[in-house]
Amino acid sequence: MKGMANLADRIGRIQPSATIAVSTLAAELKAQGKDIINLGSGEPDFDTPQHINDAAAAAMAAGQTRYTPVPGTVELREAVCRKLKRENDLDFKPADIVVSTGAKQAIMNLIQCVVDHGDEVVIIAPCWVSYPDMTAFCGGVAVPVLASADADYRISPEQLDAAMSAKTRLVMLNSPSNPSGAVYSRQQLADLGEVIAKYPNAIVCSDDIYEHITYEQDKACTFASANPSLADRTVVINGVSKAFAMTGWRIGYSASTPELAKAMSKVQSQTSSNACSIAQAAAQAALDGGLDCIKPMKEAFAARRARVKQALAGIEGVACPPIDGAFYAFSDASAAIKRLHANKKIEAADDKQLCRYLLEKVGVAAVPGTPFCSPGAFRISFAAADDMVDSALDRITSALS
Ligand code: PMP
Ligand code: GLU
Repeated sequence: MKGMANLADRIGRIQPSATIAVSTLAAELKAQGKDIINLGSGEPDFDTPQHINDAAAAAMAAGQTRYTPVPGTVELREAVCRKLKRENDLDFKPADIVVSTGAKQAIMNLIQCVVDHGDEVVIIAPCWVSYPDMTAFCGGVAVPVLASADADYRISPEQLDAAMSAKTRLVMLNSPSNPSGAVYSRQQLADLGEVIAKYPNAIVCSDDIYEHITYEQDKACTFASANPSLADRTVVINGVSKAFAMTGWRIGYSASTPELAKAMSKVQSQTSSNACSIAQAAAQAALDGGLDCIKPMKEAFAARRARVKQALAGIEGVACPPIDGAFYAFSDASAAIKRLHANKKIEAADDKQLCRYLLEKVGVAAVPGTPFCSPGAFRISFAAADDMVDSALDRITSALS
């Protein structure tokens, strides 16, 4: 007889989210009175802009507190279509859109709908920690394609071609990238698209959640804009969490074909139904309210990015990429790890030990590179208050020097 402790096989195939695990541990240690700076979690430290909060309050007052259609209110889906036209020059109709409880659920809906047992999911890496585990949960096989730090964490079309085959069902692309900050140009996306065009079974998941957090350009180009001929094989994923400092509201969305949208909606109808009705009204106000409210946040991220880059560049054995987008510094610390191990500061020469050392020795929570498919690295988020970031940089420098 199976007891409660005998869990289904699929549970054994995944780990708890490493980003969330690090933040949870940091919060626990802080609650115990320890002096901890949490650079583990990737969420803006700003409050949600007031006009968005006001829209939520108005929705509550107007009684918008009931179930909505599973794929989201028509009003929000129309606002998503307007956003995709205005900002990305993409044509979608409300029937193509599914609003979910965060972009995270939108991505899980997609993988559940298209990946069968044994199907391969090519994941451009370093990658967000959840892609490989979501794939494994659904019985797929994750095939990471690792971009090197030397190539500024961008893969070449040849690398992509070598990883793809008739078994490839999905390609996970995230530009700007969590964790590396790499941003692909329109031409680079078109070059990757040329490779993908050769594999008719493959769908592209273009995770654009950091689209507006860019430093060298106004915003990032999305794969679909660069590859119109692959429109019926591209799923656009986006949401309001990062751009509008709305992580807790949990609103994300997918834009795809009406057939795929229907399938994703079917999955969602059997799992969570609609995303929160009040949060949907808030998200509509965010999307329709213009991008002015993003500017001060972006400026603050840009100023911190400069300080982070400068500080990391001064640490021997740590190589930080250019960080063209998102709000993370993902550094290759292989040389520093070797040195710490040789000096008997850490028990094993790996990124997990490095992050444990940073946490225990100087109270800085960072995420190891391995769950991002990039051993030897570590990620810090600079979406934290200025003084926290500065103080954490001092501490990391002293721990690693
Ligand atoms: N994609 C990437 C690359 C992310 O970093 C995140 C942040 N958690 C998400 C998707 C999901 O965002 P959310 O569920 O908050 O919309
Ligand atoms: N995307 C953020 C991060 O990478 C939030 C946590 C998560 O969902 O992974 O830290």
